[in-house]
Amino acid sequence: MATTDRQATTLALAHALSAAERGLAVLPLSRTKLPALRSPHRDDPAPAGARCHGACGRFGHGVYDASTDPVRIRELFAAAPWATGYGIACGLPPYRLIGVDLDTKTGTDSSAALRELALRHLFTIPETVVVLTPSGGRHLWLTGPPDTVVPNSAGRLAPGIDIRGAGGYLVGPGSRTDHGLYTAAPGTAHLTPAPCPPALLRLLLPPPRTAHPGPAPAGDHGRGLVHFVLTAHEGQRNTRLFWAACRAYENGIGPALLAPLIEAALGTGLTEHEARATIASAARMTGHRP
Ligand SMILES: [Zn+2]
Repeated sequence: MATTDRQATTLALAHALSAAERGLAVLPLSRTKLPALRSPHRDDPAPAGARCHGACGRFGHGVYDASTDPVRIRELFAAAPWATGYGIACGLPPYRLIGVDLDTKTGTDSSAALRELALRHLFTIPETVVVLTPSGGRHLWLTGPPDTVVPNSAGRLAPGIDIRGAGGYLVGPGSRTDHGLYTAAPGTAHLTPAPCPPALLRLLLPPPRTAHPGPAPAGDHGRGLVHFVLTAHEGQRNTRLFWAACRAYENGIGPALLAPLIEAALGTGLTEHEARATIASAARMTGHRP
């Protein structure tokens, strides 16, 4: 193994240990940003291993390996001497980290998209830990409330914005990957991750499930979205309409659902002008023509 790799491993371990000291659960990552340890169940004939989250006592369960225990972290890195980085598990106490991953790929301006979301939904991004990625992207670290599970999502909020939630992980600052080094943005390394603004949190959560008596017939997705808008309370009308319209465009039923969504929005008390503006914004955010 090259000397530079050994140095990268030593540095990654040091950074991982200091993150753990702050209460963040970490796991070793390879240069590809994937968990460095392969699954001990990869050759299992039965699919039982796919459900093992570490109960077998071995390493190699991805984000489930993550720990804040320095002894275990050293053991993990000793088992993966090729690791050059570390991942920080999201969704775990005490912080219940939510990572907002602002990408710069494919020419999308995800920072502008986040600003537009913030304006539309009246929240401000608090001062918090920001990690700069080698490709020019940024990770914002936010924390979630105890009773809430934020799912992972890619591009659901807006093109180029991925969310790392429960079961996901963030590449920690000080990690070296094939593309370069992850670093904390100047002045943010020692901040405490800030709580996710409630208005943003609402956008990150799936809509409440409605009870269906049987299997959903084809086209039911659109009806579910309309119902979701129809049952909005006054404070959530715009947010729900926006969310539903985003899902409709993502699923290719945006144009077909335009009239039903507007009708539902009128039913909740929004004006047609407001409804059309919100749906047009959702179309733009999902990369469609309003
Ligand atoms: Zn196992």
